[in-house]
Amino acid sequence: MNDPTSLHQVSNQQFQRAAELIDLKAPYRAILSEPEKEVIVNFPVILDSGEIRLFRGYRIQHNNLLGPYKGGFRFHPDVDLDEVKALAAWMTFKCSLVGLPYGGAKGGVTVDPREYSDSEIERLVRRFTHQLGDTIGPTVDIPAPDVGTNAQMMDWIMDTYANVSGPGGRQQLKGVVTGKSIECGGSVGREAATGQGVLYALRHWCGETGQRLKGLRISVQGFGNVGSHFARLAAHEGCIVVAVGDQSATFADENGLDIPALFDHARQNRALAGFDKANRIETEDLFAIPVDAFVPAALENQITKERAIDMECHVVIEAANGPTTAAGEEVLTSKGIEIIPDILANAGGVVVSYFEWLQNQSGRSWRVDDVGTRLREIIWDANDKVVAMKAQLRCSHRDAAYAVSLLRLSDVYDRRGIFP
Ligand code: GLU
Repeated sequence: MNDPTSLHQVSNQQFQRAAELIDLKAPYRAILSEPEKEVIVNFPVILDSGEIRLFRGYRIQHNNLLGPYKGGFRFHPDVDLDEVKALAAWMTFKCSLVGLPYGGAKGGVTVDPREYSDSEIERLVRRFTHQLGDTIGPTVDIPAPDVGTNAQMMDWIMDTYANVSGPGGRQQLKGVVTGKSIECGGSVGREAATGQGVLYALRHWCGETGQRLKGLRISVQGFGNVGSHFARLAAHEGCIVVAVGDQSATFADENGLDIPALFDHARQNRALAGFDKANRIETEDLFAIPVDAFVPAALENQITKERAIDMECHVVIEAANGPTTAAGEEVLTSKGIEIIPDILANAGGVVVSYFEWLQNQSGRSWRVDDVGTRLREIIWDANDKVVAMKAQLRCSHRDAAYAVSLLRLSDVYDRRGIFP
């Protein structure tokens, strides 16, 4: 059954194509094409008005062969089972690709957090955490921020979990969730880590194609945590960010936008709208602006066939998860546009989540230089492996990234065997 709107089908097709290329054993293919566990909870929240509303939340645990399940919580009105299943699978492949001792999971709640007060969101987060019970835990399944969630919410998850866990293990159980505030056991560098990893992927592509990062022209779609930090870091390195947009507004300037000013504005207003020092354009026009690199950093399914036809760039760096539809990818490929895939490009976030978790386990804090150096090493090494695999298999960047990831999983399955 072919349903182009099913994200789980898109992720499965990507995985199956690479599985074919490396001749992955049939049982491993079957195992990895479905999540190990799907948890759905319906839970009530008392609103400020006194009304009690029921919400639906998910935690999909795709695979834990390599270690505890790992992946974010998304709060968005479009969250559904199909989406979370795809996002969970991508976490398995991402963690395997960059060599982390984690499996993959994803969760979320179908809610628009902007429609609720801080105290309503706090009650929602705490009740959702409580309802999940021992589905999550520092050695079981470790959530993190994703679209619509932030460090404050991670602090509430940790606090809720700690309060119902009994008096022992106060330090280690902070590792039930990553992306916390630094004060509550978070890591320096976590907030900017995904954007930083995206920039490494772009820098690596520049090296591969003999170009300089400085002076590169870039458009960024999405200005949340990932897009805004990426744009800030890229501008700092001398890239010319000619267009940025979020769901509220899109701005362009062919001489380069004032990214620090846009960053501060988005921080204060939680949106780009209202910024008055740049030229506003239509949302759709963002895709047609000629650039060297286009960086989708918003939601999935953004680069559709129609938009891909309009796009004029050399490379797409997938900062978001699943931003390119199958039809969009076909068009980009036929136009010779390279795609650096999500599981490689946006892995910086989960890598620093791992560092945060290690710090929670040991009770020792790392310095910002330690985080930066180790993040760079891991991301660079993964990019090197993917480029080598691409040359070996003569395939796309995406297929090569999956191949590296699947070969690690396959090797571990071979050694461990299938229980019992
Ligand atoms: N939500 C992020 C991702 O999609 C981070 C996950 C994590 O840190 O566990 O990779």
